[in-house]
Amino acid sequence: MDDDQGMRRSVEELRQTFKSGKTRGVDWRKAQLRAILRLIEENEDNLFQLLQSELGKHPVESYRDEIGIVKKSVDQALSCIDQWMSPKKGWLPLLFFPASRTMLPEPLGVVLILGSWNFPISLILDPLIGAISAGNTVMLKPSELAPNCASFLAKIIPVYLDPKAIKVTEGGKEVSKQLLEFKWDKIFFTGSTKVGKLVMAAAAKHLTPVTLELGGKCPAIFDSLPNSDMKVAAKRVASGKWGACCGQACIGVDYMLVEQNFATTLIEELKKTIKMFYGDDMRNLKNISRIVNKVHFDRLRNLLEDPTIANCIVYGGSFDEKNLIIEPTILLDPPLDSEIMNDEIFGPLLPIITLDNIKESIEFINSKPKPLALYAFTKNQIFKKQILSETSSGSVTFNDTMVQFACDDLPFGGVGESGFGRYHGKYSFDTFSHEKAVLERSFYLELEPRHPPWNVFKLEF
Ligand code: NAD
Repeated sequence: MDDDQGMRRSVEELRQTFKSGKTRGVDWRKAQLRAILRLIEENEDNLFQLLQSELGKHPVESYRDEIGIVKKSVDQALSCIDQWMSPKKGWLPLLFFPASRTMLPEPLGVVLILGSWNFPISLILDPLIGAISAGNTVMLKPSELAPNCASFLAKIIPVYLDPKAIKVTEGGKEVSKQLLEFKWDKIFFTGSTKVGKLVMAAAAKHLTPVTLELGGKCPAIFDSLPNSDMKVAAKRVASGKWGACCGQACIGVDYMLVEQNFATTLIEELKKTIKMFYGDDMRNLKNISRIVNKVHFDRLRNLLEDPTIANCIVYGGSFDEKNLIIEPTILLDPPLDSEIMNDEIFGPLLPIITLDNIKESIEFINSKPKPLALYAFTKNQIFKKQILSETSSGSVTFNDTMVQFACDDLPFGGVGESGFGRYHGKYSFDTFSHEKAVLERSFYLELEPRHPPWNVFKLEF
């Protein structure tokens, strides 16, 4: 689809398909969901290869974060869709008797899904599963920064899925902007807060509802822990920092907060863990993804080349420009007004900020925009309650990182600058549905006092 006319025709075809009513039927929805499963299963090796070459993802990582996630979502949608689609009955006040009340989910119509590059397959297919389950027609625009994955999706989706109802447009921000000019019934955007604002402004022109899955700085509070818990916690932090697309993940740990007297212990444990997971030979780092492109590589290198930052590096700091690999890097107490402490890092650099008392972490977090994810490693129940009641974030995970993403019964989404709206499991279905309120009354029994002339009411004014 390379010109404006082509795009217009595609959007028009999606609208006609929606109007035909074909996507509303449960059989169509299930057939498309099964087709996604086939698409994944029959192209699994190809996908492993693509993700390896595009982002350097290890196949286990690719399975966990992309292929497995999509399969799990399709399986759940297939087993729950009848229930999700069924009208929900409810009670009415006696005053309305006799009457019935129903909430009827209906598809929104023609939806646009804009994806990010860091999980180039799952961040397109996972929302698509929700949009199809809810009975919509869909335009997908994968990120141009993972061009091979985008081309793969553009080629393979029409082979497996209904091409009149699900289309893919390739291209960069100019194409996104063109797409955003059209009237959609819903826009689902995954990307940066900066572009999220542009998406919302474009949507406002048509009063189109949006779900914005954005980013930000996700903190990890690290309370003092006994030695054995500490080892487990360090592994989970390392996984949440370097284990998913090398820190290029919206819910990856951005920075850590720790009490001063515990910082050395934490850093030593993290160093051991990094060596165990990835090795310490910069020329031969194992099991770690690469930086997506030279622009992001240079952005991350510039963060470290800031003279106020350079002497805060306590581990790592090496770069392999040819292969776009950056070593897992730990920084201790970089200045709080430095770029690294104010912009989303989105890479393998981990600042650790020391505090006199771990309780100060709450104030620290509250001084920044609301994060998408907040992690806290602690056994202190009172502190946990305090974190829950005194901070605001898309999610809170105690004593682990990233795992909340894989729980379909938990809504996934941000709050404040990390976005709004939510998806995964039933929440995805709801995100792409309108729950229509239906009230049906009988002609039997009329409560006359509700109508004028209201003689029965003797009100005094
Ligand atoms: P991005 O905002 O640059 O791009 C996202 C999408 O928007 C792409 O499809 C791109 O083509 C399009 N786009 C870019 N500039 C545009 C413009 N000016 N007008 C219209 N469209 C435009 O984000 P990214 O680099 O792909 O991803 C990184 C960001 O995404 C990070 O902030 C990260 O935290 C966030 N993210 C969030 C989630 C989540 O689920 N919340 C998941 C992954 C990434």
